[in-house]
Amino acid sequence: MRSSLEIAQEASLKPIQQIAQSLGLHPDDLEQFGKYMAKIALSPEREKEIHKRPRGKYILVTATSPTPAGEGKTTTSIGLTQGLAYLGKKAIVTLRQPSLGPVFGVKGGAAGAGYSQVLPMEEINLGFTGDFSRVESAHNLAAAMLDNHIYRRKKPLFNVSSIQFRRAMDMNDRSLREIVIGLGQENGVSRATGFDITAASEIMAILALASDLQDLKMRMGEVVLGRDSDGKPIRIKDIKAEGAMATIMKQAIKPNLVQTYEGQPCIMHAGPFGNIAHGCSSIVGDKLALHLADYVVTEAGFGSDLGGEKFFDIKCRQSGLFPNAAVLVTTVKALKMHGGEPYDKENLKKENVAAMVRGFANLKKHLENIQAFGVPVVVALNKFPTDTEAEIQELEGFVKTSGAYGFAVSDGVADGGKGVAGLARLVDAAATANPNPKPQFMYDLEESIEEKMRKISQKVYGADDIVLGTGVKKKIKQLEEDGFGHLPICMAKTHLSLSDDPSKLGAPQGFNITISDIKISAGAGFIYPLVGKMMTMPGLGAIPAAESIDIDADGKVVGLF
Ligand code: ADP
Ligand code: MG
Repeated sequence: MRSSLEIAQEASLKPIQQIAQSLGLHPDDLEQFGKYMAKIALSPEREKEIHKRPRGKYILVTATSPTPAGEGKTTTSIGLTQGLAYLGKKAIVTLRQPSLGPVFGVKGGAAGAGYSQVLPMEEINLGFTGDFSRVESAHNLAAAMLDNHIYRRKKPLFNVSSIQFRRAMDMNDRSLREIVIGLGQENGVSRATGFDITAASEIMAILALASDLQDLKMRMGEVVLGRDSDGKPIRIKDIKAEGAMATIMKQAIKPNLVQTYEGQPCIMHAGPFGNIAHGCSSIVGDKLALHLADYVVTEAGFGSDLGGEKFFDIKCRQSGLFPNAAVLVTTVKALKMHGGEPYDKENLKKENVAAMVRGFANLKKHLENIQAFGVPVVVALNKFPTDTEAEIQELEGFVKTSGAYGFAVSDGVADGGKGVAGLARLVDAAATANPNPKPQFMYDLEESIEEKMRKISQKVYGADDIVLGTGVKKKIKQLEEDGFGHLPICMAKTHLSLSDDPSKLGAPQGFNITISDIKISAGAGFIYPLVGKMMTMPGLGAIPAAESIDIDADGKVVGLF
């Protein structure tokens, strides 16, 4: 099969106005970035008009615990949207924008694969319409104003050692994780800080959760930068940065429209991390999409234990929307890994029904996790060429007895929408059978911070209990005194296991979740407990993907993905 980049380069794209027209959008509703990308920029009147249209069905795509390579949620989401269109339905896929840093690291592009891709693939992966740059600029403006505030000894006075707000950059650069700034003469107050990748910026999480530009501004003002000498939080609004930040963000809040390989619409907007943030595309994008199409397929980062749970408990709680159906993506290779086979790409390609069957425990737990929110689940096998008939049959047999709504093989990478038609049929049936979903959450906001963390750990991860690391109890008390006790919880946990230990595979039992630290994203509106050490600035490997990425004399990009 040809590479995803080759397929992308040979695709014949439709002008973006044509994609917009298929959604009932007018040329005036668009701000174009070249021929194939646009921002949807509605006048207040058009906004009202469009939001009067009936709301489509909302479909969440999540997954079992992934291998380090990812199991294909993005790819399946795109394939499913093409599959729905293949059945004659009007569908939109809403996705996060890929981060630039990892493109040059190990992962390559992150906009699907094969015949289930979002296009124009190169531009999307290489900066797109500039939203990440805006997030980065807004973030770093606040950082610059913060250090100027300290240098000028302005009030409120910071306890410099309490500052938690760092700087942001969209590149994998481990040497910026821990730095000292303000060295030398006349260069400000010297202090230790560091950079996070832009996807880990709280401004990115805010972009994904805000309802409009004014709400975005208000939330940016709430971001806690650090504390004063009495331990009271000092926020962005206290240094008067949020207004200027909002001017930088005025374009970024508008959702971006692109297309899939087969010409179906994709709204791609925001890109928060799935561990220290909630890992979902924007609420603005989903709300609009639901009034533009009959089906909106959206992806949440990592497995049902991370992005899945946060989609419901953070994003849906915030938006007031709730999905009609969910898709649980799995792969034969991930199930084999969770059945105890070492993660070795060649080894996982070999037929091994017994290992896969041992890995079913992981699938079962993820299935139960989504069912606990009252949503019907269709299990999708994201098919790889190495999957054997015996493996597929065994998996299908298991899912049929598991209480899932249905099972389908999804072959969108090799076959486009046609290869996902079976999954699309099942998802349509599941969503149609659940037209008015009643929102259900894992915990109530009124419960204590400790109780909320316990509920997620016990009900979603299968833990016995939580254990609070040193100093965490005191920090929880402080957060409650600051008035943050009512916020939802965004657990920052490894995605490689349901537990907090990446080496515990399948559906581990008899473990505790150790909370090593607890932090606040007051602007985004969640508390994030750290379960183990989280990487917020990746590094490059021994052979970065960047070494093989190039552009030739004709302007043709090679090696990207
Ligand atoms: P996720 O969204 O779950 O992280 P992606 O859809 O981004 O997963 O897929 C992860 C990686 O695997 C990507 O590089 C993608 O191109 C590749 N991939 C996904 N599905 C398939 C498939 N069926 N065949 C081959 N490669 C695939
Ligand atoms: Mg993805």
